[in-house]
Amino acid sequence: MGAEPQLKFYNTLTREKVDFQPIDRDNVRMYVCGPTVYDFAHIGNARPAIVFDVLYRLLRQVYGESHVTYVRNITDVDDKINARALRDHPGLPLNQAIRLVTEKTETQYFRDTAALGCLEPTAQPRATENIAEMIEIIEKLIAKGHAYQAAGEVLFDTKSMNDYGQLSKRNLDEQQAGARIAVDAHKKSPGDFVLWKLSADNEPGWESPWGRGRPGWHIECSAMSGRYLGDVFDIHGGGLDLIFPHHENEIAQSRCAHGTHAMANVWMHNGFLQVEGRKMSKSEGNFVTIYELLQTEKLGGRTWPGEVLRLAMLMTHYREPIDFSVKRLEEAERLLAKWPAADAGNAAPDATVLAALADDLNTVAAIQAVHALAQAANADANALPVYAASAALLGLLPQKVEMDDAIVADIDRRVRARLELLKAKNFAEADRARDELLAEGIQLKDGKDPATGERITTWEVKR
Ligand SMILES: [Zn+2]
Repeated sequence: MGAEPQLKFYNTLTREKVDFQPIDRDNVRMYVCGPTVYDFAHIGNARPAIVFDVLYRLLRQVYGESHVTYVRNITDVDDKINARALRDHPGLPLNQAIRLVTEKTETQYFRDTAALGCLEPTAQPRATENIAEMIEIIEKLIAKGHAYQAAGEVLFDTKSMNDYGQLSKRNLDEQQAGARIAVDAHKKSPGDFVLWKLSADNEPGWESPWGRGRPGWHIECSAMSGRYLGDVFDIHGGGLDLIFPHHENEIAQSRCAHGTHAMANVWMHNGFLQVEGRKMSKSEGNFVTIYELLQTEKLGGRTWPGEVLRLAMLMTHYREPIDFSVKRLEEAERLLAKWPAADAGNAAPDATVLAALADDLNTVAAIQAVHALAQAANADANALPVYAASAALLGLLPQKVEMDDAIVADIDRRVRARLELLKAKNFAEADRARDELLAEGIQLKDGKDPATGERITTWEVKR
């Protein structure tokens, strides 16, 4: 690895940037909250997928590819899913309808994140495949006096934890002062949250010591992170909107069940995302899914390549708010067009790029440095390997397009024919031939052969 930079990350738990020290350098462990699969992922959901993919790549670069475990869950049991299943498949038994909704949404999520250049996490566990682990944690919480049963639910007793609220810096009294008149009279305190609730006959449910029921959302992440990463792991990530109550409650469950001082040592949160200057919402008409950006003409009257979306996202530091706009996408596209295609080789990435990412994922500085490397590589092919390794670290290396020999021969023939037109000063026809090729993604570059001084034209495939 050579001289590795000291990684520093902003830890939401302590509100400061800290040197990162993994618990075990041979297995650096990261958990990120994944999608609830009831609807296609929107562009706001793309942000944590991309941001934490860059972090995953950085950790693999520093500690070695086989020494990082990245887990991102799939929430496939949720009342939003039930509602969607009833709406979309009213004629089917609910379980069957639910499966149709979750399978379709999950498949699209995998397609979306792949198109955005995200590596597959080490594991993508589904909540429904970890119910036994959830029941086990809830049993521990009850046994240790941190949870109680009331009105068909098992609830976490927030008052039973001395330092509940550490992550969001809310204390319980403040929360209670602000809480509305107790709607949930069965709760000991208004902040108590559901670990398990009974299911009606037609709702999805699993047998448990408290009857046939289903888990609350927060307990899913405690169970899956614990199973794959252990009681205490290195990094927990997600969007800013998850700090409270989701992450706060994950911490409460995991720490109280396992009797540990921490659930994860570092908590990292990406900032909010707006679209065209406004909070994204269906009523504002600016709600846009990743699928719509990639495949339809919803934003800016055209489709956008995944790598353009990715670069547009990384042009802002992950903790800052983003205004996602057509202007920003166009800017990203112009920049990316100047980056040469290459294959990732064995070269080490540039130290400036690595140092920028090591400093709390400063992708803005890293992109600037990669752009300078791209320009150097355009001028001198010897600079290509370091540029390629650096761009790949951001997941933004344009790939060489594999082309059929017959297609290459055809393009060569048309490029030569246009050159003849130029020599014959038939500029109108020559321009038309150039534009036709460009429309097919073939860009021409006219020049002179340095040895003979003869006019030549080279071409390359643009994305
Ligand atoms: Zn979670």
